[in-house]
Amino acid sequence: MDKIKELQKIINESTGIVFFGGAGVSTESGIPDFRSQDGLYNQKYDYPPESILSHTFFVHKTEEFYKFYKDKFNLLNYKPNAVHNYLAALEKKGKLKAIITQNIDGLHTKAGNKNVYEVHGTIYRNHCIKCHKEYDANYVFNSKGVPKCNCGGIVKPDVVLYGEALPEKDYIGGLSAISKADMLIVCGSSLTVYPASGMVDNFNGKYLIIINNTKTPYDYKANLVINDNLSKVFSKLK
Ligand SMILES: [Zn+2]
Repeated sequence: MDKIKELQKIINESTGIVFFGGAGVSTESGIPDFRSQDGLYNQKYDYPPESILSHTFFVHKTEEFYKFYKDKFNLLNYKPNAVHNYLAALEKKGKLKAIITQNIDGLHTKAGNKNVYEVHGTIYRNHCIKCHKEYDANYVFNSKGVPKCNCGGIVKPDVVLYGEALPEKDYIGGLSAISKADMLIVCGSSLTVYPASGMVDNFNGKYLIIINNTKTPYDYKANLVINDNLSKVFSKLK
């Protein structure tokens, strides 16, 4: 059977679907994959992006951090693609129970999904590190230099930096959703980076589906593997 038809058949018969998405889901909206050849990690900057995007760097070189952050992470104008839109419709039908994403661009929420676990945080939430007051993304991206709270504290994006723990609520919620799912669709993730691999290990359901441009170490466990362009696959689904 044609792989997309097979995927459609499994979606039709599943009632508790969970979606796990990596960078590949966002690249189709034009957002660079931080780890790809032409992604952030290979662009020239004063410091390597891996260093800039660390907790230590944020603390010690806050101004430099924000130069980079405002330049590269202002993703407010990007739009959901065929994958996001399909998932929003699937949630409305009651079939999709949760999305777990490693992306910080908030595109699933923009597409209309309600139950989204953002395990690497989001650019849309920001808080003062002193008094915890919340600020929106526009406040941060439009601020001059380091964004400050009216209490004088520094405002920090709720984006998980290297050296920081994952947001507990999202991580635990995501794990729980995966463990209850009857179908898990893993998309656009190489499944080599923590926490992706560990989270997928919690799946005990019937169908594991992997859709990715390249092979993953979990392919052998999957009921169906599709190595193709994500938008192409999802735009064919009903
Ligand atoms: Zn404050």
